[in-house]
Amino acid sequence: MTFPKKSKFYKNAIYNLLQRTIDKYASYNINMDYTQKEFLESRPQRLCKMCGKCCRVLTASISYEELKKSAEAGDKSSIEFLDTFEPYPSLEDALKADEKTVKNIPDYQNRTFYRCKHIGDSNLCPRYEVRYDVCRFFPSSPWAVVPPECGFEGWLFQQREFHKQHIRKLKEEAIFYKAKLKTNISEHEKGLYEQLIKKINERVKLYDKYDSEKW
Ligand code: SF4
Ligand code: SF4
Repeated sequence: MTFPKKSKFYKNAIYNLLQRTIDKYASYNINMDYTQKEFLESRPQRLCKMCGKCCRVLTASISYEELKKSAEAGDKSSIEFLDTFEPYPSLEDALKADEKTVKNIPDYQNRTFYRCKHIGDSNLCPRYEVRYDVCRFFPSSPWAVVPPECGFEGWLFQQREFHKQHIRKLKEEAIFYKAKLKTNISEHEKGLYEQLIKKINERVKLYDKYDSEKW
């Protein structure tokens, strides 16, 4: 059934549709944790080549000193990290262990690199059943830096593209809604478009740290 464009029914249908879209975007933003959970559960473990590179040479986003302080203050993830990994004595040692992986990190000269204290020559994890989240959830996001030739490389690229497409689509929608604001619409409809634009901007902002401005 179709309604004439100026009819009350048509307008109500539009308002309902806009309100549902606002609610959907609001729930997206609240459910970032859910998105993260979905990502972790969707990782195809069969892609892991069991090369052990991610256990043998890795770095952290904060310095070794900061990690130790944070562990002393009781931070669970820092305690678990230091219980699993030990720092290489020097950058040269890390380079000797795996030059490609070290040099894959943009500012590698200023980083501390670590190795697992437990891994054996077979690359099998001796703590597999009790390993901490830092190991269990690797790679932990589409933007995780993995060693070159890691089996997850291509899949992570796909995941990043998926998020980028989603954000690009939302940005296009925002442009459309902004154009709508300049047309002859009711104050109520205008308010709904403004809420939609706000929700989209909030969503895009969640991806700021990944440079979403440029997508
Ligand atoms: S580097 Fe990648 S492929 Fe190799 S063990 Fe780690 S997750 Fe698996
Ligand atoms: S504990 Fe296991 S999974 Fe974690 S770094 Fe060591 S070998 Fe790898």
